[in-house]
Formats: sequence, C-alpha cells, structure tokens
Amino acid sequence: MNNRNRFVGKAPKIKKKQRAVEGATDKDIITLCTQCALCCKGFFFSCVRVDRRKKKKIEKLGMPTHKITHADYALNQPCSGLSGEACTIYAARPEKCVEYHCLIAMQVMVGIINLKHGEKIISDVKKQIQWFSKQTQLMPIKNGERLNPYDFMHAYLKKARSLNKKGKLSKYDNTYAIRVFEYLKIIDRYFRKTGLIGKYATFIKQIR
Ligand code: SF4
Ligand code: SF4
Repeated sequence: MNNRNRFVGKAPKIKKKQRAVEGATDKDIITLCTQCALCCKGFFFSCVRVDRRKKKKIEKLGMPTHKITHADYALNQPCSGLSGEACTIYAARPEKCVEYHCLIAMQVMVGIINLKHGEKIISDVKKQIQWFSKQTQLMPIKNGERLNPYDFMHAYLKKARSLNKKGKLSKYDNTYAIRVFEYLKIIDRYFRKTGLIGKYATFIKQIR
C-alpha cells in the first residue's frame, strides 16, 4: 500500500505509550518542523488562539494580539514570531502551537512513516502549493492587511459558489475555483481536517 494513502481519513490519536514503542523522538518532530513552518504562515489557519493568561507575556515579546471572544485573544497568521522557519518565541509560544501537530507530523510520531518520508512529503507539498503562494500577492486587502492564504481560500470559494448560484460564474473563476479547491484538499489530506470539503464539494462537482 502506498503510505500516502494512509493520510486519507481520520488522523490517529497519539498515546504516549505508543509513541515510546514506535521510537519516534521529539528530535524527529523538531527536525521536520524546522524545515517546514507552513502551519505558522497562514496556509492552514486564520489565526492562533492565545489564552488570556498568556496574552501579556506574548505582547511583551512584541507580538500584538487581538480579541476574539470574551476570554480569548489571537495572533494573526502569518505569525510575526516566525523568522525564516524558526519560532522566535518558542519557549513562550501559545498552548495551541504547543499542542498542534499536523497529520504528517502525527504519522511520524506514531511511526507510520519515518522522518525521511515525512520530509519528502513536506518538500512535495511545498512544490504543490507554490501556485497558491503566488496568489498571496494578488489577494484582496481587508482592514489594511492582505488576507492570509487560508482566509483567501475560504472567502474565494464562498464567493465563487454564490456567483455560480446566480449563474454569474465566469470561465476564469470556474477554473480558478477548481484550483483553489485542490489546495483545500491538500490541507485536509496532510495538515488538518478543516471541515470545509463537504461545504464546497457539491459546488465543485457542479462546475467541473
Ligand atoms: S505543518 Fe506540520 S511539519 Fe510543518 S511545521 Fe507545522 S506541524 Fe511541523
Ligand atoms: S508563536 Fe511560534 S509556533 Fe506559534 S504560530 Fe507563531 S511562529 Fe508558529
């Protein structure tokens, strides 16, 4: 079986015991993540939630947060704490960053794939999303800032679906929406379950 097919479906839960048995180390994950950092660049998330108890500490490090609920704040993505592929506030990073492991990292952690294989997938995915990275230059500006790739992807698919309902989807937008949907599929397959595939699958089926 091609190992990549294993990414389809629900990601496995990682039990400490299992991780120890499989022999994956924190070093492996650090090695993988420091070559990647895609999850800090706004490709898969709008923002990162920051607990209000950690807010002051993070702001003291020069990273502004904004309020999202009465108790929580968030760091915008791409994250201002990222330098190259490294987190400059690693020891003080929000809990959500500590907890998050993408589906590839989880597969390495439980030993379904080894580090080398994980690195190869990240390198392939980076090539695949190159097209989407270029789109960030063309993205509309909201409140003085460009939308990050994840927000753009969501906003664009929503708009295209609505245009299609009204029979106003241009040929250009038709092709573009299919490509954007392919990007969403990459996120869901390798990085996180967004819950958006079902939302747009029927629309994409209609325009293919
Ligand atoms: S996307 Fe995955 S491999 Fe890349 S930095 Fe984030 S957790 Fe690590
Ligand atoms: S705080 Fe660090 S780990 Fe969290 S999103 Fe920013 S750069 Fe990434």
